[in-house]
Amino acid sequence: MLGNYGQPPVSIVRGNGARAWDDSGREYLDFASGIATLSVGHAHPHWVKRVQEQAAKLAHCSNIFMNENAPRAAEKITSHMHGGKVFFCNSGAEANEALLKLSRLHGMARAGGEEGKIFKVITCENAFHGRLFGTMAATPQEKIQHGFRPLLPNVQVAKLNDIESFRALVDDETAAVILECVQGESGLTPATPEFLRELRALCTEKNVLMLCDEIQCGMGRTGTLYAFEHAGIVPDAFSTAKGLGGGFPIGGVWIKDEFAEYFHAGMHGTTFGGNPLATAAALAVFEIFENEKTLENVNALAPAFRAGLQEVADANPALVLEVRGIGFMSGLKLADAPAPWVAKLREAGLLCVSAGNNVIRLLPPLNATAADCAECVALLKKVFAKRA
Ligand code: PLP
Repeated sequence: MLGNYGQPPVSIVRGNGARAWDDSGREYLDFASGIATLSVGHAHPHWVKRVQEQAAKLAHCSNIFMNENAPRAAEKITSHMHGGKVFFCNSGAEANEALLKLSRLHGMARAGGEEGKIFKVITCENAFHGRLFGTMAATPQEKIQHGFRPLLPNVQVAKLNDIESFRALVDDETAAVILECVQGESGLTPATPEFLRELRALCTEKNVLMLCDEIQCGMGRTGTLYAFEHAGIVPDAFSTAKGLGGGFPIGGVWIKDEFAEYFHAGMHGTTFGGNPLATAAALAVFEIFENEKTLENVNALAPAFRAGLQEVADANPALVLEVRGIGFMSGLKLADAPAPWVAKLREAGLLCVSAGNNVIRLLPPLNATAADCAECVALLKKVFAKRA
């Protein structure tokens, strides 16, 4: 395989709930959750049943035909949003590419049908929107962009939580702004509700699309189905992926009705998008959320989990500088580089994932138990206590 991942020499072969096992039989508490993807944990019986039954019935038929699951999965999103339309694809970056294409169509509509007049997109410092050509341009990080320039042009960079930096950039050529309500990859930085409300107002005033990337912070991770709900705003469109499939590769976008109309037959598509197997997995995740009150679980357990993380921070003030995040999108800002600590924690039986230069992310499955969270805190205390 291509040497693009730099993986540790650990092969995960099995999982159950918040537990995973490697090929030597070693057990781990999995608070990496496939980078915020295993929303209902490993091998949830309902998810497995849904996927197995669908695999035995019909895995794929392509979008030249309708399938029975895609509209049902879309309806889970549109009913929550009280309207709008959904497009399914296969990954997060692909979903954001659809949002970027939407921004071009919005620009064209605003320019009376002329292409190339209104096309600028504003992204945020430290954003992560993916590694495809459009999304990479909206990911203003040297480590992501280096070697791949020239990028998609006309992507400008403003500062999260600094409305004036957006106001300064929005002009007659601006089609859209795109942002994560909680920045994930760069280290768990939340947008404040006030900032999100101001940005919503600015976008409405200037007829600029507000695009939210809910790929990591959405699907219940912060305790609401979508993170923008904390601010009481509705974006014009958002992207979703990761936790949507509970481990099955699927992405999607939701678009407000008035903007969804821009897309006509033949304007966008993907072979696998919304196939019956992927949308069976997404349906299973939504059904588990409903039947097991999974978001309520996040909201019930997150305060005690954060308090436990705060104890870890208080016991290690020279190492842990801050407890970060919202709900089960949580982590610790360290004084050190995170990678060696992620390795030590793995050796002690806890899987977690680094973010940015100094954060470790603790991303429990959304149906983790109080005991799982307490075990994570205990493992952190044990490992950090051994700091030389
Ligand atoms: N957007 C955000 C906020 C992400 O966290 C990620 C992945 O980490 C992506 C986009 C890209 O998603 P994918 O890796 O599925 O292409």
